[in-house]
Amino acid sequence: MNALLDIPLKDWKERLSNGGDVPLYRVRQLSHWIFRKGVLDWDQMTNLPKDLRDRWSSEWILSLPVVDTLRVSSDGTRKIVFRLGDGARIESVIIPREDRATLCVSSQVGCGIGCRFCRTAEMGLVRNLSAGEVVGQVMKANQLLSADPIRDGSPAAKERPELSRINHIVFMGMGEPLANFDTLIQSLDLLTATDGIGLSPRRITVSTSGLAGRIRDLGESGIPVNLAISLSAPTDALREQLMPINLHHPIRAILDACRSYPLKNRQRITFEYVLLGGVNDGLSEARSLAKLLAPFRSKVNLIPFNPFGESPFRRPLHEDVLRFQSVLLERGVAATLRKTRGEDILGACGQLALENRSNNPEEDSAWKPVAFSMPV
Ligand code: SF4
Repeated sequence: MNALLDIPLKDWKERLSNGGDVPLYRVRQLSHWIFRKGVLDWDQMTNLPKDLRDRWSSEWILSLPVVDTLRVSSDGTRKIVFRLGDGARIESVIIPREDRATLCVSSQVGCGIGCRFCRTAEMGLVRNLSAGEVVGQVMKANQLLSADPIRDGSPAAKERPELSRINHIVFMGMGEPLANFDTLIQSLDLLTATDGIGLSPRRITVSTSGLAGRIRDLGESGIPVNLAISLSAPTDALREQLMPINLHHPIRAILDACRSYPLKNRQRITFEYVLLGGVNDGLSEARSLAKLLAPFRSKVNLIPFNPFGESPFRRPLHEDVLRFQSVLLERGVAATLRKTRGEDILGACGQLALENRSNNPEEDSAWKPVAFSMPV
């Protein structure tokens, strides 16, 4: 049996209609139960004929990732480790902020890109996620929120409404989404289609380490999602040390691809910059970065490094972070400082799943990395 959520929405009519004897409105009723009401139990889909439900349930798997671990931070952040069908684990994070409930989703089990400041990189790439596994993270997070909405956890809590549904998505969890491109496009379709989850593409951000060709492909897909580039260095020499992907996709190639990315009114490209104490947080890097990004409709998201395990890097000094930000602002480059969230529940990407892995050695076969060649 195949997983229904792995089937592109455009094929549902053909795949579910059994040679044409099922009217389109029945397929729409099914997608409405699944994506809008979050119901996956065939017995609850009461406006569908029983014989049709019996047939579909014998032909299709309809399931979501299982919650393995859920940790709630004092700031309201909820970090989830999901267990997939083959035992592999991935992370998602629900980040509440004012009236937003943002879900940070994973696109791969592990990652083969090897950024030196990233905990997930230690796993290597295990496998790509399917579209159903990507969208399943959102649907499961919605189930969790509807059962237990976020009501507190931030200073703005009194003014903000109860958060009972994910309303923003960022592809910034485990994996490089553009290295799993077909799945990315298929899951964006499920997330944005009116017969799917129905989120506006403007509420979705795809973050990449900078696969230049795929950035162009994403722009040409016609799905107007926000684009974020993980840059973290203003020069190739420094970036190569921090992100080996730069050997294949140097800064100039990435920025050329960014120039071709279609931006709607007021849309900007986000450049993420992980600040590593004494490595890339100096005045000269700040000035070079400002010069590099000045021609772009962009904003820089400064992310002070969150130390983990054996990492050779340290957290930057707060005064250096503020100085870096002011250099950008003085030169007309919008720059925000990302507040570290969920630190008390293991905040860095990959940290919680890795911790769980070592607690579950009997399931380590699900974590065996595969050979990975750098995407070009
Ligand atoms: S930062 Fe992103 S692209 Fe780089 S290794 Fe980590 S998960 Fe992969």
